[in-house]
Amino acid sequence: MKTYRIAAIPGDGIGQEVIPAGQQVLQALADGGAGFRFEFESFDWGGDHFRRHGVMMPADGLDALRDKDAILFGSAGDPHIPDHVTLWGLRLKICQGFDQYANVRPTRILPGIDAPLKRCGPKDLDWVIVRENSEGEYSGVGGRVHQGHPLEAATDVSMMTRAGVERIMRFAFKLAQSRPRKLLTVVTKSNAQRHAMVMWDEIAAQIAREFPDVRWDKELVDAATARMVNRPATLDTIVATNLHADILSDLAAALAGSLGIAPTGNIDPERRYPSMFEPIHGSAFDIMGQGVANPVGTFWSCVMLLEHLGEAAAAQRLMHAIEQVTATPRLHTRDLGGTASTAQVTAAVCELLAHVP
Ligand code: ATP
Ligand code: MG
Repeated sequence: MKTYRIAAIPGDGIGQEVIPAGQQVLQALADGGAGFRFEFESFDWGGDHFRRHGVMMPADGLDALRDKDAILFGSAGDPHIPDHVTLWGLRLKICQGFDQYANVRPTRILPGIDAPLKRCGPKDLDWVIVRENSEGEYSGVGGRVHQGHPLEAATDVSMMTRAGVERIMRFAFKLAQSRPRKLLTVVTKSNAQRHAMVMWDEIAAQIAREFPDVRWDKELVDAATARMVNRPATLDTIVATNLHADILSDLAAALAGSLGIAPTGNIDPERRYPSMFEPIHGSAFDIMGQGVANPVGTFWSCVMLLEHLGEAAAAQRLMHAIEQVTATPRLHTRDLGGTASTAQVTAAVCELLAHVP
């Protein structure tokens, strides 16, 4: 039987609760006759590792992950460590080390979820946001001089390479092409940023010629936020830079219900390295250890992980189980206005997966 080797990195805060829940659900799927098995290895990297060793993960950490089939990641964030240290020391180290240049964030309103968007009228949405995940505003290029001096100055350079933009555009057009509506919106800010963003637009038009069956348009990032609220049905696949997509995808998650539901995949489309799947929420220290974290974002990330492994039938079974659970109000966690615990939601999904369909 095929065995998938999965690295589990719970990280900090509620990552410690939702990642074991995700492993339980994947295990239930395998035990329920999916036709494959999982071999999990857990890594205790994160804030506690930083306190003990001065680093979020060991220097040779990437080597331990390199031959895994996929990575399931929780969250990196600690109230006592600066955010840029936790982020660059763990999550971004893996994303950049394994050149996971496409960050994919599906957004839909799941059954039974009282999504804020619905309160604006009878509206629905079905989007996939593609975030450039390797350069742009988060390229790390920049510097700080004259610290503490009146002349102090700092820069963060948004660096875009032709190769980097071409590959994310091609990925986005291909993804749009694979979806029923074949519709892509390229988000930009080339009216104000007249170097890199202009190149971004030019490359979009160039790659579009390889995909004549994809309808595409261009939208300024500010206008895109309003369009997401006012005309959500005009959007399908959306591609944006690292910073723009970071913001747009939080808006998307909020419109669709809760931060606790939304999944994401950090993908190496060329499959040279393992890809990494994670809920989009952070460590949420305010609710950690209470057993009330919503594990649905992690479960949906597991669906993406299964799709990436090519296990489409298993992915569909898990998504169906998730939708049955969200459609049941007594299985809603506190963020959705309910009283269910992480363990109850997890048990319900496992129960639905326990029998071969
Ligand atoms: P980080 O600094 O790691 O990003 P954070 O403290 O900013 O973490 P987030 O995880 O980004 O917190 O979430 C913001 C708020 O949303 C949290 O305070 C929490 O109450 C809520 N929240 C996030 N994820 C979940 C979840 N899975 N279940 C329930 N509530 C959640
Ligand atoms: Mg946060």
